[in-house]
Amino acid sequence: MPLITGKDLLAVANDNDFAVPAFNISDWAMFTGIMDISEEKNAPVIIAIHPDEVSHVTTDLIPAIAHRAHRSHVPVVIHWDHGGTYEQMITAIQAGFTSVMIDASMLPFEENVAITKKVVETAHAVGVSVEGELGTIGANDSYGESGAAEIIYTDPADAKRFVEETGVDSLAVAIGTSHGLYPAEKSPALKLDLLEELKATLGIPLVLHGGSSNPDDEIGKSVKLGVNKINISSDIKVSYHEAMRGILGTDRKLREPNAIQPAAIAAMKVTAAQKIDLFDAAGKAALY
Ligand SMILES: [Zn+2]
Repeated sequence: MPLITGKDLLAVANDNDFAVPAFNISDWAMFTGIMDISEEKNAPVIIAIHPDEVSHVTTDLIPAIAHRAHRSHVPVVIHWDHGGTYEQMITAIQAGFTSVMIDASMLPFEENVAITKKVVETAHAVGVSVEGELGTIGANDSYGESGAAEIIYTDPADAKRFVEETGVDSLAVAIGTSHGLYPAEKSPALKLDLLEELKATLGIPLVLHGGSSNPDDEIGKSVKLGVNKINISSDIKVSYHEAMRGILGTDRKLREPNAIQPAAIAAMKVTAAQKIDLFDAAGKAALY
């Protein structure tokens, strides 16, 4: 199974009512762990890398990721998460990403349309898929990703115009999720009726960002109502590093990464497997 584009990956998910997890990876051990669990679950997978993560792993890692993907039996997409500029999108295309997200959702509508359209024209010319974002997904903490304290829900009529004018392949929508982890006093709730309206209006694969703290049953319902890609970053990183803290705290003489990382990877894989099951993606590699 080769590396494929985001459009081809998500078309199958759209036709079969499941969502593909987009796991943010920040190092090689996390990446191989995510590949291993995706193969164990026979699930399609999106390897997502955010600009802050790119600055950490560098685009030099992309050929190695592609090499690993090409010898997998599950379909793999390499996706640039939350692109902020046209230059980043060119960098992603040059580096071998098969999907990009341009997130200009913080700009006024017309400016968001203009830059997204420009990215779509460029990316489509060389067979790379594009995800746009409309509305404002909330932010719970100050880590990496974009977002605001208050959610601005995606308006269906605006979304229709946005998709028609830009030609995006998928759209991240704001229906009540926030990036990062929720503080205890906040209780997130998804507007599933808005999601249904958006799906009926647009038809294309919809994307959820920031679903880390939303209840599992709401996320499960959103998958059946037309969400076909869900970003997972905080949850797997918490599992990975909580386990690593424990290992390092228990034996202060440990020094070899291959003695420290395997248990952290195993913990991350448990969380990733739960997401794959929740999104109904297990076994779905067989559809490609
Ligand atoms: Zn996001």
